[in-house]
Amino acid sequence: MTPCDYTPGRRMKNGYVKIRIGDRWDLAHRFAYEEAHGPIPVGFEVDHVCHNSDSSCTGGSLCPHRACRNPDHLEAVTGAENRRRGKGFAGRRSRQTHCIHGHEFTPTNTHVRANGTRQCRRCDSLRAVAYKKRRRLAEKGPGERYRDERGVFRRRELPS
Ligand SMILES: [Zn+2]
Ligand SMILES: [Zn+2]
Ligand SMILES: [Zn+2]
Repeated sequence: MTPCDYTPGRRMKNGYVKIRIGDRWDLAHRFAYEEAHGPIPVGFEVDHVCHNSDSSCTGGSLCPHRACRNPDHLEAVTGAENRRRGKGFAGRRSRQTHCIHGHEFTPTNTHVRANGTRQCRRCDSLRAVAYKKRRRLAEKGPGERYRDERGVFRRRELPS
């Protein structure tokens, strides 16, 4: 891959570089993209390929790649794709093929919440079973039944 082009410019707090084009300001990498590849389609964002391929860069405002304006490193992607590729929490999560307990995210086992995060159905049902078991034990198990400070029935072992 060709090296990054860090032509100096006015670096903003978020790490991107602003440049003046005639009488307006534009983001350097967006401008470089349009110069080389034509207009950015509506709904698309310009993604830094050099950043994506550098696994040591955690991104954010300290990411040096945001200042890169090498057109070969720039790719127009939809906003959703950009976030999916991202190294942030959401990006990592959406690339996972299994839940934290190792169940595969298949279409039938995956419940997509309104905020877009995925919930493992198998974990959901296991949690429900564990909850019922705790409830049953609290009601009929050995030992002495009592209510805790929140009013939930629990059991404590009787001293033998
Ligand atoms: Zn670059
Ligand atoms: Zn980076
Ligand atoms: Zn699971």
